[in-house]
Amino acid sequence: VDETVAEDMQKLEENFRGISQKYRLINRIGEGMLVPPETRCMANPVPGTFSTVYKAEQLDPPSEEDTENEDPDGDHEMPVSKRQRVKTAPRHRFVALKKIYVTSSPNRILNELELLYELRDSEYICPLLTAFRHHDQVVAVLPYFRHLDFRLYYRDFLINDLRHYFLSLFSGLAYVHKAGILHRDIKPTNFLYDHAQRHGVLVDFGLAERQGTDWQPCFCQEHKEKRRERFLNSYAVQQLQQSPDLLSAGHPKQDNRPSRRANRAGTRGFRAPEVLLKCTAQTTKIDIWSAGVILLTLLGRRFPFFNSADDIDAMIEIASIFGKKKMQGVAAMHGSVFETNIETIGEKGFTLEKIVLWASCREKDEDGLHPGEAQAVSLLGGLLELDPNKRLSAKEALNHEFFTAPVE
Ligand code: ADP
Ligand code: MG
Repeated sequence: VDETVAEDMQKLEENFRGISQKYRLINRIGEGMLVPPETRCMANPVPGTFSTVYKAEQLDPPSEEDTENEDPDGDHEMPVSKRQRVKTAPRHRFVALKKIYVTSSPNRILNELELLYELRDSEYICPLLTAFRHHDQVVAVLPYFRHLDFRLYYRDFLINDLRHYFLSLFSGLAYVHKAGILHRDIKPTNFLYDHAQRHGVLVDFGLAERQGTDWQPCFCQEHKEKRRERFLNSYAVQQLQQSPDLLSAGHPKQDNRPSRRANRAGTRGFRAPEVLLKCTAQTTKIDIWSAGVILLTLLGRRFPFFNSADDIDAMIEIASIFGKKKMQGVAAMHGSVFETNIETIGEKGFTLEKIVLWASCREKDEDGLHPGEAQAVSLLGGLLELDPNKRLSAKEALNHEFFTAPVE
């Protein structure tokens, strides 16, 4: 164990006496331990933006009475979780202790713990066992889930591996979405996959929210006709009509249009077009787009697939695939105008088949995609659908022939 990690672990044990009575800390996890630092990249910063996670071993449980009376100074097993603790959970030998940074707002922490509790019954979601609080520090206790760093295996996936990976991912998402919850941060580091068991679990509900929490009306909720009319009268269109030079100038640095506010929480490269376009009525479909980006990554064998510095860059990357025309359609849908003079962005864009062949350096491959791959690309089309209304739901994805009628 690294010296600084050892120090951190000691501090944690000193602060949380309740924890040191129950668990023996082993090491820090989720630091990309197995991956040399130079291969880390911005689209996938080392995990640990909001927390530090440790692997620990459960010590023999003290008797019931001990636990009832135990209340060492300042270290509380949180009442919320004491009440709600997963009673039927089997005893897990190894656990993950997630120390949530104090910079996270109390609401955010409570939100994460509450949602985890609500979603505890799915085998595709890592359940919360219990939680501890010491002053403003909170530690969530989760069963330890064995997994490999995505960067170590994303190039080696066979089609059948993809099926198992996404079967778990969509099963988890179907459960989350059925509860009306958006995960908001679907990406490889938040889906822990165990190859040997062919089973994966969703983690990290730190950004998750209930659908509709902060909804404002957005164009996209209106009927097509009405949407079109309101769009043509919109501020964005009028501004463009008044000053068409906005177009030739490229992205205006001094853009003085009133800005629109929408939840943009999530990770660069995984944000759905409606998030980039600041849709104010985002749905669970944003997670499906992110899952699509993971599938594209695995099929194209490139990670990160999208590596944008900001939301405008991200839009350009997406436009390079889908073409200008479709981007304009989806922008209008959310009341925005999409214009670009970047030459590499064509009017029509490319098929996902072509993108996958290019990405995996097989553009000259006479045979094109193998049958199983073609099925995966067909599924991909349903996930990376620009219009969230047409995008597959998790349940629909599970009913795709890629899963129901697999070919090699
Ligand atoms: P953050 O909010 O800091 O991203 P996460 O909940 O995503 O925190 O956890 C960060 C990392 O810690 C994960 O990517 C994973 O590698 C590891 N981790 C989290 N929970 C577990 C768990 N239950 N079992 C094993 N490793 C875990
Ligand atoms: Mg995370």
